[in-house]
Amino acid sequence: MSSHDVPSKTLDQIEFDNRFTNQLPADPSEVVRPRQVEHAAYSRVAPTATAGPVTVAVAAEVAELLELAPGEVETQRFADVFSGNELLEGMDPFAMAYAGHQFGNFAGQLGDGRAIGLGEVRTSDGDHWMLQLKGAGPTPYSRRADGLAVLRSSIREFLCSEAMYHLGVPTTRALSLIRTGDQVMRDMLYDGNPALEPGAVVCRVAPTFIRFGNFELFSWREEIDELRQLAAFTIETEFPEIASAHEDSGSPEAVAAFFAEVARRTATMAVHWMRVGFVHGVMNTDNMSILGLTIDYGPYGWLEDFDPGWTPNTTDASHKRYQFGNQPQIAQWNLVQLANALYPLVEEVEPLQAGIAVFAEAFEIEWNQMMADKLGFDSLEEEHGKLVNELFEVLQLTETDMTIFYRQLADVPVADGSVDIDAAIDETLAAAYYVPSELTDDVRQRIGTWLESYAAQIAKLGRSDADRKVAMNAVNPKFVLRNYLAQVAIDKAEAGDDSLVVELLEVLRRPYDEQPGNEYFAQPRPEWARTKVGCSMLSCSS
Ligand code: AMP
Ligand code: MG
Repeated sequence: MSSHDVPSKTLDQIEFDNRFTNQLPADPSEVVRPRQVEHAAYSRVAPTATAGPVTVAVAAEVAELLELAPGEVETQRFADVFSGNELLEGMDPFAMAYAGHQFGNFAGQLGDGRAIGLGEVRTSDGDHWMLQLKGAGPTPYSRRADGLAVLRSSIREFLCSEAMYHLGVPTTRALSLIRTGDQVMRDMLYDGNPALEPGAVVCRVAPTFIRFGNFELFSWREEIDELRQLAAFTIETEFPEIASAHEDSGSPEAVAAFFAEVARRTATMAVHWMRVGFVHGVMNTDNMSILGLTIDYGPYGWLEDFDPGWTPNTTDASHKRYQFGNQPQIAQWNLVQLANALYPLVEEVEPLQAGIAVFAEAFEIEWNQMMADKLGFDSLEEEHGKLVNELFEVLQLTETDMTIFYRQLADVPVADGSVDIDAAIDETLAAAYYVPSELTDDVRQRIGTWLESYAAQIAKLGRSDADRKVAMNAVNPKFVLRNYLAQVAIDKAEAGDDSLVVELLEVLRRPYDEQPGNEYFAQPRPEWARTKVGCSMLSCSS
């Protein structure tokens, strides 16, 4: 299909080509109760039927990827299929087996405890898209939990996946958000106050949902044949350049090349997170996509004030392992776990170390370019590096909204090498400062000194203010999924009004546009949201 055609498939015309379940070893048992599953990449399991599915929102671009006709998503049958009440011809539902390191410790078998893969859509161009329902009932990997998801966490996953996509951050996608009509019991703050909440299911979409943890599982169990099979499968289906460069996709050389490519993509993903101020919150190796996509939107958050030590995840509050500023290091630590898991296939340390070096190198190059872009330079020269370090200090002198600061910096005239410091602080950048009384003479002076060096360096480039603004606004978003905005949408939805979910989805489709009339969505966090649950603090309960 060429890009200008309107997609026209009905649900029944979607074609499935289920490579994962057809080519990898299946669990012979279909018993759903929690158990260890050996020598298998997945277990077949049917989604649990829901009481009364109602579609809340659909991402039109994702429906288009699947070539679904626009009218199809409005049907009741769509809600039935994407809540798990009906299977389409060709679907082969399953839960993946994987392991993982959680908060630094190996946790053994985890697996899709509340995600059920439906199958891989094959488009007319031959692309494959795995469909996966999150919250569609228990699987053999559900351990002590129910396999369900509540509306609040589903709204967060649905909106954030699409917001990230439109920001240009590698991510899994979300097709639909559907209320199930069932009630789900959750102790939201883990404080002994369980309550019923509305249930929901999100249909996630990605080329594959294979994680670092899938490899860790086989490696840990010393199921080396299965490990090699999974590596060869992943390379052949997702890394065709590597497959065609090697005669045997399971060979040590192919696996090492694959690892290096995963490292490179992971570096790119981490740089994007740092660019937009995204904090994943649970960077466990079971939440690391082998494709370098952001995956598993749980207790994530968006930086408001620029604080590298911030994490939204209350489960991680004491160690803050996954705080904003640690994410690149943690990404590398996770890659080391993947390297360990792949070692039995490579049997040499050096090629895997080379892959880790690829991460470090790619991260540094892409980070430098990203910071250059955010500030309106062509590239990050040595003198700019110092400017960046000083900026990170200045941003922490007083509570400063990261998103607003960069966006507004583009509006501060500096092209002639000088800057009106008072006008910059009191007008252009003012909205970024949460506590104006903290803007003491000393703080103002340090911001001013930084602005002056910035102006001097921009002037050396000879770049006009207008050109610089266009360039900066293409990488510094005006609209991100602010923590409190998601929570306001959730509060409304829990009261029965889903309109803000739909409205946010629309605004977040164009995060770099000015969008006159939508300023409300670009405002700094209101004071009431500072300590409200869901806005600045989130548990893993979902
Ligand atoms: P997470 O860190 O949230 O990605 O989840 C870690 C593990 O717990 C994964 O294996 C999930 O499938 C599982 N899990 C999380 N929530 C539930 C739930 N409500 N029911 C069953 N399994 C769950
Ligand atoms: Mg997970």
